[in-house]
Amino acid sequence: MQENIFPIKHTLLQQLDKEKLNGHKGIVLWMFGLSGSGKTTIARALENELYSKGIHTKLLDGDNLRAGITNNLTFSIEDRVENIRRASEVSKLFMENGNVVICSLVSPTKDIRKQAQEIIGKGFREVFVNAPFEVCAERDVKGLYKKALAGEIKNFTGLDSPFEGSENPFIELRTHEKDLETCKNELLEIVLKEIQL
Ligand code: ADP
Repeated sequence: MQENIFPIKHTLLQQLDKEKLNGHKGIVLWMFGLSGSGKTTIARALENELYSKGIHTKLLDGDNLRAGITNNLTFSIEDRVENIRRASEVSKLFMENGNVVICSLVSPTKDIRKQAQEIIGKGFREVFVNAPFEVCAERDVKGLYKKALAGEIKNFTGLDSPFEGSENPFIELRTHEKDLETCKNELLEIVLKEIQL
């Protein structure tokens, strides 16, 4: 905490007040996985479904954040940590406002995700969007794998920058084994239970 900064707490409406207004709890679904594993695709499908059920959501996508609030950051380890710190703080704000926050960020290491969990607190739910490197490289949605394998991109996750899976995520979605609809529905079912007041 910086000197001479005094955050107000006591006069603010609390998360529970916002949750009561919205009719459901606020949580953060922290979707992580390799580029091309399916985070954005599932996040969008889930958000549409939740929206149609009257649930308040906010989708935070790593690429979109990198176009704005984190646009001064690189893909070095230090900057990845800062990237996650800012995304976590923003997620927390939306969660405290009673939203189901769907965060879609590579967040490649256990340490990085631990940092997110520590910032966000008890509303944090880790969603491992899991597909093997070879499958993601085959999909190559953004053409990044081709460039990375040709040496044109440095610090590429899963290649010359580490990626660690999770042994005990809140939920794991194996997108090379189940189709989008199945993955989305599995997540939806568990989220609807989690956000009940
Ligand atoms: P990421 O956001 O993780 O980088 P994207 O969602 O942009 O990944 O891309 C994932 C790609 O994989 C899309 O082309 C999508 O159609 C495809 N895909 C195949 N199976 C699935 C699945 N079960 N869930 C999500 N995406 C899938």
